[in-house]
Amino acid sequence: MGRLIGVSNRTAADPNARAGGLAVALWDALVASNGTWFGWSGRTVDEARGIEMFSDGGVDFALVDLTHEEHERFYLGYSNRALWPIFHYRTDLANFDDEDFAGYEAVNHRFARLLSKQLKPDDVVWVHDYHFCLMGEELRQHGFDGRIGYFLHIPFPAPEVFRTLPEHTRLARAMTAYNLLGFQTEDHKANFERYLLEFAGGRKNDDGTVSVHGRTVTLKAYPIGIDVDDFAALAEKDKAREASTRIGRFLGGRELVLGVDRMDYSKGLPQRFEAVGRLIRDYPDLHGKVSYTQIAPPSRTKVDEYAELREQLDQLSGSINGDHGDLDWIPIRYLARSYTRDELAGLYRIARVGLVTPLRDGMNLVAKEFIAAQDPHDPGVLVLSHFAGAASQMPEALLVNPYDTHEVADAIYRAIHMPLEERKERWSAIDKTIREKDIYWWRQTFLHDLGHIDAESDLPP
Ligand code: UDP
Repeated sequence: MGRLIGVSNRTAADPNARAGGLAVALWDALVASNGTWFGWSGRTVDEARGIEMFSDGGVDFALVDLTHEEHERFYLGYSNRALWPIFHYRTDLANFDDEDFAGYEAVNHRFARLLSKQLKPDDVVWVHDYHFCLMGEELRQHGFDGRIGYFLHIPFPAPEVFRTLPEHTRLARAMTAYNLLGFQTEDHKANFERYLLEFAGGRKNDDGTVSVHGRTVTLKAYPIGIDVDDFAALAEKDKAREASTRIGRFLGGRELVLGVDRMDYSKGLPQRFEAVGRLIRDYPDLHGKVSYTQIAPPSRTKVDEYAELREQLDQLSGSINGDHGDLDWIPIRYLARSYTRDELAGLYRIARVGLVTPLRDGMNLVAKEFIAAQDPHDPGVLVLSHFAGAASQMPEALLVNPYDTHEVADAIYRAIHMPLEERKERWSAIDKTIREKDIYWWRQTFLHDLGHIDAESDLPP
């Protein structure tokens, strides 16, 4: 296999962005193959320039600036006002704008042109996420006929929802230019497969691949994981203990129910606040005995829906605390700021309940980090939405419908009162799964599969 070329909107060019997720996954593979990480520089400029190249820690970076207009149309516009809401089933929040799509196409086109100049025939390209649905097709048009894989980190919705995108035909067609398409869950994979078979004239082959538009494409689920040992070790470090001690001082012996989510409408935060309000109303025995702390760093604040969510959460937490709080007790503590991974590890460890109730989520790494950080002798309980990709791997969590505030409130109550033996059983089953399918398994399995696809035979005639 030749060099690995990773493509993603944000790269790990900034050393501070190397600790989690994709950076951990790609780094060793890029170093081992003398590979390159290609993506946005994170800068917006008046006028587009070429590629900026540099090496750091054994990885070559090839970064491209976005113009202000491209950032508005490609990133804020089509990626985050059309694809993100639709792929998370929020047809009500989607904004379809021809100029946004034109900007999305133009950035995929320009980035592919710049990248194609760097490519050698035996390079293996791995493109990530919804910003670059069109990249594979663009690279083909620039003459690259090597292997190109794609991994979608967010859900792929049911075809009925995907078809609300005015550009669904174009997007899906472009996605079939990849040799291997990876999804977080079997459900997401099945959604795309059903779209290809029912709405794009595709045919399923005996080996499971799909032939469509004169190409053959392999679809498969690869649930992304974390480095479990690394996270478990973090939870024992000084920074983590410091964070546990600080919140412990505030808790004063109360049980901690913890949520950690980017402030995004896909995370179900208003519904979660409502469920905690219900918990307090329905179970007066918990008054003064629990504290729900929600960490919610604001994100994408330039998109209106995110600013509105912030207002809604401020208002909801204020009214629940106003109704139920007391001189020495605030039921909901909501912190609109971010914490480091070390600090989070310490907070997860001290929590009795991890509350992860997105309305939709590709995977949800917080669920896995919460499990990894637990004390095996006294583990906390994970309350997890059916609609997080992680739920497909974690039947032993307390699975809930995040829209059903009764069910979520009852699950929190049950989690708080769960006997130690049951907590241990549930925790160790999930811990085993996330160790088997960790971040290294994810990378190796995807790249192994991509390396074994006969790229030549998949190209259009
Ligand atoms: N995270 C963090 N600091 C915070 C909140 C979150 O470092 O204050 C990290 C968290 O540890 C996790 C990631 O952000 O690794 C969130 O990933 P997830 O898959 O749960 O959700 P996403 O934000 O990608 O939708």
